Amino acid sequence: MSDFTMTIGGKSAPAVDSFDVINPATGAAFTTAPECTKAQLDTAMQAAADAYRTWRRDEAARREVLQRCAAVITERAGELAPILTQEQGKPLPQAFAEIMGAAMWFTYTATLQLPVEVLQDDESAHIEVRRRPLGVVAAITPWNFPLILATWKIAPALLAGNTVVLKPSPFTPLTSLKLGELLRDVVPAGVVNVISGGNDLGGWMTSHPIPRKISFTGSVATGKKVAAAAAPDLKRVTLELGGNDPAIVLPDANPKEIAARLFWGAFQNCGQVCSAIKRVYAPEAMYDTLVGELAEIARGVRVGNGLEDDIQMGPLNNRPQFERVKELVEDAKKNGARIAAGGETMGGAGYFYRPTVVAEVADGVRLVDEEQFGPALPIVAYKKVEDAIESANASHFGLGGSVWGGNAERAVEIAKELECGTAWVNKHLDLSPATPFGGAKWSGIGVENGRWGLYGFTELQTVNVERGA
Ligand code: NAD
Repeated sequence: MSDFTMTIGGKSAPAVDSFDVINPATGAAFTTAPECTKAQLDTAMQAAADAYRTWRRDEAARREVLQRCAAVITERAGELAPILTQEQGKPLPQAFAEIMGAAMWFTYTATLQLPVEVLQDDESAHIEVRRRPLGVVAAITPWNFPLILATWKIAPALLAGNTVVLKPSPFTPLTSLKLGELLRDVVPAGVVNVISGGNDLGGWMTSHPIPRKISFTGSVATGKKVAAAAAPDLKRVTLELGGNDPAIVLPDANPKEIAARLFWGAFQNCGQVCSAIKRVYAPEAMYDTLVGELAEIARGVRVGNGLEDDIQMGPLNNRPQFERVKELVEDAKKNGARIAAGGETMGGAGYFYRPTVVAEVADGVRLVDEEQFGPALPIVAYKKVEDAIESANASHFGLGGSVWGGNAERAVEIAKELECGTAWVNKHLDLSPATPFGGAKWSGIGVENGRWGLYGFTELQTVNVERGA
């Protein structure tokens, strides 16, 4: 029996069946998670629909509940963090940071407003525009940041007055299941339901008649399936999908000064960040120096089991992703690339891959064109800045991008040329609960976070009152 239970209608739901959860540091199953049946999904959706009737009515109460969610996550962070490390792979301090980030997101979201805008208020009419909740939200998350990405959905959905059915990735179901257990004492029954299962369960959710909104974070391929599944019922969707973020280093940048920030902008969470740097464009004159600096940092990274002390980088999360990173690096080698650091696994049963810097590689090679989502960074040389901008934008992806240079004003002008949702200057991967985050082109539809993310869980209602009659 699993130690982790689904939360449906405020109660623990019995596990009819279960699946293994693998610790990527060992490659072995360390526990199981319940496999949600179709009937249990129906019960969860119905519980959310029933809870919605009253939950949507009291905004002040919802704010208080969000604060209590933050408090319980903070109190139980010590219990959640090792679970997150074991299911995801990230080092324990980073697991703590994710969990405390989730608490912070709840706290911040509780302060957001749902303004009512009065357009007319005179003797002939009162017209105001309000934001109504949508109903039940189906929330589906990936395996790289399971807890905080769930929070990005739950907190604003709840504040706006919706109720939620959450399904985490089958690779990382445990912290989300635990969150559901913790919230049983905090949110009214049925307001947050947490179920677990495989990809089929995701498909059942998106085609289910009850949810009015699907909030999805994951790959482009699955995002397209979600959009197609939502269409017949005209469900609202927010899609936070993959990225292939370029970092353009300008000729006036100081390679020694920026190398560490550039490196960790790419290798945080073992490169498994949707908006990590996934390709670097460097001027020819600086190329060798920058590659050398990045390779030196890569060689010094302490990689290992995230439960051990002093580890900077854990394993890749799962075998398919591990195989994919190996394949992309091998393909780059076949295409003439030089491995400046790493380029190999670390042996053993876990999914460990050395931080890898790949030089002498160009657009058209898979490692540059595709989303690697792992610890292998290609560095591409350019002659003219215009060429680098062209390459950066020659992609279906458009999540983030960054420009690095000594003259910040010039860098900002170039950043504005990037076709992406977030353009950073002299940094990358700086996210905040106040800032809208989303992708251009295939990287997504809609945004999360800030008031814009909150509005995505609402629809406008115009209330128009006759006064002149
Ligand atoms: P994935 O698309 O394989 O899976 C994501 C979730 O969708 C999982 O819970 C999965 O079970 C579920 N799912 C699978 N098939 C489904 C279907 N047909 N219908 C509904 N749900 C289905 O993605 P992943 O491999 O877990 O995550 C990695 C991807 O997520 C990367 O591309 C990464 O860039 C992206 N990502 C994006 C953001 C963002 O905010 N833009 C954040 C994190 C990760």
